[in-house]
Amino acid sequence: MHEAVLYEKLPGSRVRCHTCQWRCRINPDKFGVCGMYQNKGGTLFSLNYARVSSVAADPIEKKPLFHFYPGTLCLSLGTLGCNFHCKHCQNWEISTADSGTLGQGCREIQPRASMELAKQYHCQGISWTYNEPAVWFEYTLDSAKLARENNLYTVYVTNGYATPEALDTIGPYLDAWRVDIKGFSDEFYKTLAKVPRWREILEVTKRAKTKWNMHVEVVTNIIPTMNDDAQQLEDIANWIRDELGELTPWHVTRFYPHHHMMHLPSTPLDTIEYAYKIGRNAGLKFVYAGNVPGHQSESTRCYACGKLNVQRLGYQTEIEGLEDSKCKFCGAELNFRSPGSKEGEK
Ligand code: SF4
Repeated sequence: MHEAVLYEKLPGSRVRCHTCQWRCRINPDKFGVCGMYQNKGGTLFSLNYARVSSVAADPIEKKPLFHFYPGTLCLSLGTLGCNFHCKHCQNWEISTADSGTLGQGCREIQPRASMELAKQYHCQGISWTYNEPAVWFEYTLDSAKLARENNLYTVYVTNGYATPEALDTIGPYLDAWRVDIKGFSDEFYKTLAKVPRWREILEVTKRAKTKWNMHVEVVTNIIPTMNDDAQQLEDIANWIRDELGELTPWHVTRFYPHHHMMHLPSTPLDTIEYAYKIGRNAGLKFVYAGNVPGHQSESTRCYACGKLNVQRLGYQTEIEGLEDSKCKFCGAELNFRSPGSKEGEK
């Protein structure tokens, strides 16, 4: 067990966790909302440090990250627990598990061992994914520091609910922030994820980009009847354009029935096309349809000269026309990060 990094002690042996925006107040022997932090005698402990439920060498495009080290493999690690309880969670077996199952459900991979695994599997980076990385914050922090020393890039695949303090603690060691902006209304976040306040996700995401120069890509899973209305989609697209910039990739992905949302149909392709058009009409230069194999948006074309920069077919990626972060043919800035790009420096 590791003592938590971000918490305060309160009277009566209570504690308050400041890792994510729940900022749980936790009584002695009790757990936070995520189930992975426990108050033991007035000290807050992370219960899942180095407890890995899922590990794979994934194409970075699978995260999805399309403008970040294209064509590379990243070591993907997840644990148990989550601070959101999304009704459509695809990884609900791990995200809803409690700490009592850490023993059977996980193997131990210490940060240094994860570096070795990454090298063994020819990965150029590490991502914490599958469930919310902030729920094993101490592990991701120690690992991210080591990744820097080992010349590996680092990625959070996140719901964006970490606190600004958590972001600022790991910010010097994190390269990419692949964030879900799941919808754009209080009602939606409350209904889908049981989260009453969500707008700080926007502030923290903006901070990841502006303060820490992280590469940011946004995903919105379009769920029929829940967030497929023009208002929410336009609000998301406009927010990305205004606060993150028109070169920020937006992935609008197809929903498939899962978990507590088996009663809804898969997202119709027309709806994905509709969301795609909303993004382009808002001025976003890179909108990608996700979970739609063979869609015309799968590859990256330069918005200025129309030439092909990166060809993608599923997770097969061919770089056709990139020079650092720019179009090789006309020099337009495309917001790519790769080993040689100056944009990637901190
Ligand atoms: S990380 Fe867990 S314990 Fe800490 S504030 Fe978030 S939900 Fe609560």
